[in-house]
Amino acid sequence: MPGAMILVTGGAGFIGSNFILGRFDAGPDPRGRQPGGLVNVDKLTYAGCPSNLAALAGEADYHFHQADVADQAAMTALLARYRPRAIVHFAAESHVDRSIAGPRGFVLTNVLGTQSLLEAALGYWRGLDGAGRDRFRFVHVSTDEVFGSLGPGDAPFDEDTPYAPNNPYSASKAGADHLVRAYHRTYGLPTLTTNCSDNYGPYQFPEKLIPLMIQRALADAPLPVYGDGEQVRDWLYVADHCRAIEAVLAGGRPGHSYAIGGETELTNIDLVRRLCALLDEARPRAGGRHADLIRFVTDRPGHDRRYAIDAGRIRRELGWAPREAFDRGLARTLAWYLGHGDWVEAARRRDDRPLPDPAAAPP
Ligand code: NAD
Repeated sequence: MPGAMILVTGGAGFIGSNFILGRFDAGPDPRGRQPGGLVNVDKLTYAGCPSNLAALAGEADYHFHQADVADQAAMTALLARYRPRAIVHFAAESHVDRSIAGPRGFVLTNVLGTQSLLEAALGYWRGLDGAGRDRFRFVHVSTDEVFGSLGPGDAPFDEDTPYAPNNPYSASKAGADHLVRAYHRTYGLPTLTTNCSDNYGPYQFPEKLIPLMIQRALADAPLPVYGDGEQVRDWLYVADHCRAIEAVLAGGRPGHSYAIGGETELTNIDLVRRLCALLDEARPRAGGRHADLIRFVTDRPGHDRRYAIDAGRIRRELGWAPREAFDRGLARTLAWYLGHGDWVEAARRRDDRPLPDPAAAPP
């Protein structure tokens, strides 16, 4: 029977780092120390930053291994070595614009990587005794983008919404979700899937909307907003997402999925304007307001118009609710980035394939 160890994949990325730090009662949002050790398995792509976890250096219960989730033999060996009671699978290629520029890497990691991890987990789970098998959980961290796009008056996504992914990133995550479901239905592996809306908070790679806008505003560079900026997204502070994953890990029903969101719908242009207003206070701009830097640029192909989440199931079944109000979470996020310019610079230096600047092309 395994102990209380859990194995996390992709823990050097944005959400994984926040998840691990919080579990060790460290980082910007400590959650209270959880019992049992943790092994973080990460390939360290451009998006992986092991220094996010520097606070855990010397921590006897924290282990790190650089490995690809698509390497089934490596996953099998790590499971045999650490004998975890659960896997929390964050590892993915996660940036939609990169998936449009090059979909193949997204299929290799998100689809084949997930299948390799599932196969290794299945072999490990089958070798456990009855109590170990009952206790084991495979939590797959996915996105609301698998459901496609909503119209203005449509009901929000929930666990029964049909899948309709519109870009290579969401299609590859949808493929992973289907495999996770199939490993439960076909083989009985106790899997659970979370489908969460857009996260924001500390440690997000500076290619994503909020940190991208902050760094460009600080450089007095144009702030590129796709299309008319009226795309609606639901936003959730990352620590609230981490608490939701803990709740699913502790009490979720195997074979089920959980829709997770902040129930905070905002248009992209509204979000960027709110951020500009906060920047005006924190770092007044010589010669104008930060919102003067906004530039509408050619829309992203296949750009989904609206995402919204009905998080009723996780609220009812697991007693989870978001805690961080959006404006406070955004102010905290901005404060974190203003205090971590070195982290942003180091992240940008790791990016060996930067995307073209959308503000450089005429709308
Ligand atoms: P991220 O890009 O910041 O981090 C991904 C991490 O996975 C990195 O540390 C990277 O090195 C690692 N990784 C990539 N390929 C790997 C591989 N083949 N093997 C091992 N490690 C690999 O991503 P994120 O924003 O933290 O997202 C984490 C998960 O949450 C993803 O599965 C994503 O689809 C999902 N998700 C993200 C959001 C969001 O708003 N960021 C919302 C909902 C769901």
